[in-house]
Amino acid sequence: MSEPLHINQHPGTNPPSFECTVVDSQVIDGDYWVQFDKTYYYPSGGGQPADHGTISADGIKYSILDVKKRSEILHLLSDSVNVDSLVNQTLTAEIDQQRRDILCRMHTAQHLVSAAADELFSATTIGNQINTQKTRIDIGIESRDSFSKDDLESSVNNYIDSAVDVSMSFRPRDELIEDPLVRVNMDLIPKNIHELRVITIDGIDICPCAGTHVGNTNQIGYIEIGKVKSKGAGKLRVEYTLVD
Ligand SMILES: [Zn+2]
Repeated sequence: MSEPLHINQHPGTNPPSFECTVVDSQVIDGDYWVQFDKTYYYPSGGGQPADHGTISADGIKYSILDVKKRSEILHLLSDSVNVDSLVNQTLTAEIDQQRRDILCRMHTAQHLVSAAADELFSATTIGNQINTQKTRIDIGIESRDSFSKDDLESSVNNYIDSAVDVSMSFRPRDELIEDPLVRVNMDLIPKNIHELRVITIDGIDICPCAGTHVGNTNQIGYIEIGKVKSKGAGKLRVEYTLVD
């Protein structure tokens, strides 16, 4: 199985190009997907959309439009490509850096919004959908009256202003259960995973996460919270954008 090598890279910004070999191709619902022997592309998951990019072989460039993790990691090619001809070819793969960098900023901001919502309102993050233009986070909150959009926004922007280091490590599950900065419910993470990739925002938040992030909060830019919608009893959907 081709491993998602992005998990060993941090910060996730400015991902370098890499060489890889096409080991298999598949046509799924008329779309052409290829599998590499190794890949640094981020496959969609955990609320973060996939990387885009290009692969080049023999001077011909093909676009990668989506990446998904099934039993293998598959890369969606732009149409009109004879995928079979690519098998066994060695390629140069490039990840769209601009897209990746925005997703890193949006994703790291999501950790900060979730941490601040917990600190300010004892709110729990239930889900999130990160995107390049706008990100949304669903939070569970007992007392809606305690919620303040302005307080949440300024708290996150203060974290950003403080230029806090964001680091990545692998830590044992048992250790994380005891750590007060881990805000997620560790019971939701499958018990057979004993060591987890963890993103630490110094003194603010520790979160098991396989996504891509910036190396310091000062690379996020500021956030602006837009719509806050009710999503049923005790649930709010918070949307934010990035402002430079
Ligand atoms: Zn993350």
